[in-house]
Amino acid sequence: MTAITAHQHKTAELVAPIFESQKAFFESGATRSYDFRVKQLKKLKDSIKRHETEIYEALAKDLGKPAFETYASEIGFIYQDIKHTIKHLRGWMRPEKVSTSVVHFPSSSKIVPSPLGQVLIISPWNYPFQLMLAPLIGSIAAGNTTILKPSEYTVNTALVLEKIIKDCFDSNYVHIVQGEGIVVVPQLLDNFRFDLLFFTGNTKVGTIIAQQAAKTLTPVVLELGGKSPTIVDKNVSVDVTAKRIVFGKLFNTGQTCVAPDYLLVHENIKDKLVASLKKTIVDFYGENPQESESYGRIVTPRHFDALIKYLDNGTIVHGGETDREDLYVAPTLIEDVTMDDPIMQSEIFGPILPIMTFSNIDEAIQIVKQNPYPLALYIFTVDRAVEDKVISNIRFGGGCVNNAIVHLSNPNLPFGGVGYSGIGSYHGKHGFETFSHLKSIMKTKFFYDNDLRYPPYTDTKLNIAKKFLE
Ligand code: NAD
Repeated sequence: MTAITAHQHKTAELVAPIFESQKAFFESGATRSYDFRVKQLKKLKDSIKRHETEIYEALAKDLGKPAFETYASEIGFIYQDIKHTIKHLRGWMRPEKVSTSVVHFPSSSKIVPSPLGQVLIISPWNYPFQLMLAPLIGSIAAGNTTILKPSEYTVNTALVLEKIIKDCFDSNYVHIVQGEGIVVVPQLLDNFRFDLLFFTGNTKVGTIIAQQAAKTLTPVVLELGGKSPTIVDKNVSVDVTAKRIVFGKLFNTGQTCVAPDYLLVHENIKDKLVASLKKTIVDFYGENPQESESYGRIVTPRHFDALIKYLDNGTIVHGGETDREDLYVAPTLIEDVTMDDPIMQSEIFGPILPIMTFSNIDEAIQIVKQNPYPLALYIFTVDRAVEDKVISNIRFGGGCVNNAIVHLSNPNLPFGGVGYSGIGSYHGKHGFETFSHLKSIMKTKFFYDNDLRYPPYTDTKLNIAKKFLE
């Protein structure tokens, strides 16, 4: 931490010349060509390749992340994102022709994606590698310069990220700033006017940051959190459902923004599902998950302490063991909770799953609606009417039918929240567009000029206009 925080109180002073050099670099037009953007994405991939071993080590130190999870959700995720972006970038950059009313004859119209300029990306600790670089890929693809601010809680990963960035980019193009968010971020937002602030983190901090950004009318994209429900209807394949829920909940030890936060299960199959969840946890992580190489740890003692308070809620029916020294919290299932319990009022963000029941789907929908719109929602059902009802009656960022968390790995789907779970979205083309300004252009030829719109206005002109427009 010392290495990271030594200069953090001087952030504004240290960043000022870099911010100016990024402005000059952007204005030079150097970041705009297709060739430049693709070259930078390839450089980023090569640099990640060179540092792969260090990335695995850093994530193991920071979060006890198993190598498979590090590859699937951090390194491999970013390789796929770079590959997808390079494959489609030329098409995304191409201006899109759109139709033009005959009223404007002889005109044509197009939408021209243009770089925004100077971007600031602030990322959290739970996927500290992926959540810093996936937005960066969008920013590079769109032709911007970027300043990155990683989380101070995952210091090992933050330092490897700094190495990777310095290895492939000059600071007048991409620069990384280390330090505690509460110290560093206000200095960045008060002293520099960015063309976009892209923030991933919790809703409370997102609210503070959005207020700071509003002082300079800095546009914000906020990728936030919330309580993502998992609804299980009767008549589903119970064992497959249990496997998909346990995978989604315990991946990264439950520290996933889209992890199933709580379970709402139809009363007819509750006992069967709970039995299957218990068996699945043992199949995945053994009788003692603390000894499993497939199971991670909680990020810091502070987060551990916040998490274990939830163990006082309801009745523990599986797990419940903790070890503060080791930052270990066992996969835990809790029954008999009510909506008034703290565990049902804020995002859990750990391997603890409260389970409630419902007798008909309308009841489940009403329970979900007691909390703000979630980032994700999962519905397990074989009944199309139930699926449609849930999707159309509840506002949520995105989700899955008969699966959990995997929707975010499809780059063709926009990823983002709604309401308190976020503003804006990214991934794939949606990321490119989030980091671009979509400029609208209408072009008119000279060979004909319609006098209709020019003064002096007459009743005849008004009547003709009405004919065209109504
Ligand atoms: P956080 O909000 O505490 O931190 C995120 C970033 O904000 C860090 O870089 C941190 O340094 C900075 N920060 C913290 N406090 C600040 C302050 N007062 N002023 C300015 N900057 C500050 O988030 P976290 O705890 O690291 O991450 C967990 C949260 O993020 C969860 O709520 C989770 O759901 C959410 N999340 C959302 C997504 C998504 O894509 N929507 C992804 C991952 C995590």
